[in-house]
Amino acid sequence: MFNSLSDRLTSTFKNLRGKGRLSEADVDATVREIRRALLDADVAVPVVREFAAHVKERALGEEVSAALNPAQQVVKIVNDELVRILGGETRRIRLAKTPPTVIMLAGLQGAGKTTLAGKLAKWLKGQGHSPLLVAADLQRPNAVTQLQVNGQRAGVPVFAPHPGVQSEFEAATGDPVAVARDGVAEARQKLHDVVIVDTAGRLGIDAEMMQQAADIRAAVNPDEVLFVIDAMIGQDAVNTAQAFHEGVDFTGVVLSKLDGDARGGAALSVASVTGKPVMFASTGEGLDDFEIFHPDRMANRILD
Ligand code: GDP
Repeated sequence: MFNSLSDRLTSTFKNLRGKGRLSEADVDATVREIRRALLDADVAVPVVREFAAHVKERALGEEVSAALNPAQQVVKIVNDELVRILGGETRRIRLAKTPPTVIMLAGLQGAGKTTLAGKLAKWLKGQGHSPLLVAADLQRPNAVTQLQVNGQRAGVPVFAPHPGVQSEFEAATGDPVAVARDGVAEARQKLHDVVIVDTAGRLGIDAEMMQQAADIRAAVNPDEVLFVIDAMIGQDAVNTAQAFHEGVDFTGVVLSKLDGDARGGAALSVASVTGKPVMFASTGEGLDDFEIFHPDRMANRILD
């Protein structure tokens, strides 16, 4: 990912090398190239516009630092702006003062929620937590089984509705809101300190699905709502993110499939348009293909 954007930016900066001082025309030409490179990488238009304006303003107004030549200065400004649009500081999970911490996952079908649930559970377990996975995706036929398989691999128990079996809690079968509520009750009773609630998605945004996600949110009062988005969906990322932002009001973003050859625009746009930070990255199908997202490291990777 980001290969093409990275190459384009690097060659733009090359044109500035050896210049003693940047004229306004130099800055304009550079900003134009940066704008084109971002648009070609599928970054959303309003995000590109703001990015370009900030770079221009700072490149013309910046105090000339003795330590940096003009080319280095522009690289630094672009780096700072990339970190800013990716959400700034690294954001960690907010743990509840009184356990269990409830983490709800939301996103379109196929975004990578169920896979992420397993990854997150394994990672939290490695951090010394005792997570419980809750299978509240009753839409996709295989989702419950898939979560059970992931849970087994991660060594983390899964709370799931058993068809036809009256659980000691509510007979939750068929009602994802009841499953989610019962799952959190089970975590409390069995002293799990973190609960991860997997929810259903659809292939496209749909009012019924959004309502279900909002109902689950209201029922379990999560400490974090993580919106999982497939980095490969390009320009659609922004509309999808905005719909979930309004529909369930998520607290953080997880970019999945960062191992693919996406152009990277989704990653650069989503945090910026929703004002919510990217917290994790999913980088493969395996349970260990999971990273805490550091905006500064991602910016470095792009500008390397
Ligand atoms: P859900 O519908 O949101 O629960 O999505 P799933 O977790 O079932 O993922 C959909 C597909 O994407 C599955 O085939 C996963 O193996 C695959 N997948 C999930 N995350 C990643 C990732 O980070 N990288 C790659 N390459 N594939 C992924």
